[in-house]
Amino acid sequence: MATRRLNVTIPVLTYHSTNIVDNTYAGNDHVALASDLEALHAWGVRVVSLDDVAAWYHGDDAIIAGGPCVALTFDDGSDFDAVDIEHPTCGPQRSFLGVMKDHHDRTGRSVTATTFVIASPGARRQLDERSLVGRDWWGEHWWPEVRSGGFMSIGCHSWDHVHTVVDEVAQAENVRGDFSRVATLADCEQQVREAGDYIAARLGGSRPAHYAFPYGQFSAYMVEEYLPGRQSSHGFSAAWTTAPRPVTRAESRWTLPRFVCGRDWGAPDQFRALLGRVFP
Ligand SMILES: [Zn+2]
Repeated sequence: MATRRLNVTIPVLTYHSTNIVDNTYAGNDHVALASDLEALHAWGVRVVSLDDVAAWYHGDDAIIAGGPCVALTFDDGSDFDAVDIEHPTCGPQRSFLGVMKDHHDRTGRSVTATTFVIASPGARRQLDERSLVGRDWWGEHWWPEVRSGGFMSIGCHSWDHVHTVVDEVAQAENVRGDFSRVATLADCEQQVREAGDYIAARLGGSRPAHYAFPYGQFSAYMVEEYLPGRQSSHGFSAAWTTAPRPVTRAESRWTLPRFVCGRDWGAPDQFRALLGRVFP
C-alpha cells in the first residue's frame, strides 16, 4: 500500500500572500494555507518541492513512491511571503514562511514552497504604493534569507508583471494587464532573461529554475519559440501557468498547470473536494 492509486498526477497549489481581506479562510490566503497544510497532513499527502515535481515529470518515480503529494507556490513575492506584518485593517499576519515553520514545528513534517517574485524594483515600488499601502512591503532583502533557510526557493514572476498599476512595462506598446501580449524577442528578454539575471544577482549568482507567468498568461511566441529556443541563455527549466489541473507527464514543460487558492477552492470542504478529484 506504499504506492497509492494516485501515481500519475501531482497538483501544484498557488497562494497569494497579499490576499488579506479579513481573517477568514475565504478572505485570507494565510489562514487558508495554514488550514490546507493541516488537512494535507491529516490525509497523509506530502508536500514536495517544485524541483521534485520537475524530477518526477522527467521520469524519476522515487518522488511519488511514498504516496500522493502536492507542491506549493506563492505568487507576486510581497513581504507578506516571508515577514510577519501588522496589517492596517486585519491585524498581525503570520507570513507564509512562518505558517510553514509553525506547521513543521507542530508536525515534524517537511514543508517547502517556491515563491515567485517580481524582479523589477521600480515595479515593486509602484505595486507597493498603489496596490498595498505604501509602506515598503514589496522588498527583496528576504530573498537570500528564505532561500538559505530551507523552507522556500525563489522563482521568477517576470520583470514587471505587466501590471496595470505600473507606469511603464516591458511590452512593445506598453500594454498592461495582459501577459499574453509579451510576444517579441526584446520583451521576452526583459521579462524572462533579464528578470532572471536580476534575481540571480541577489542570490549569489544562483539562477531561478522556475518561471510563473503573470496572470497565468503567455504568448505562443514565448512558449513555442523563446523559452525552448533560448534556454541556455535564460536558464529556466520549466514555466507555470494557472490552468486548473494537476501536472501530468503529458504537459509541456513550458506550460505546466497550477491550481489557485480563491479561484479553484475557497473553503476547506472545497479543498477536500478538489484533492478528491485529483486523488480519486
Ligand atoms: Zn502575479
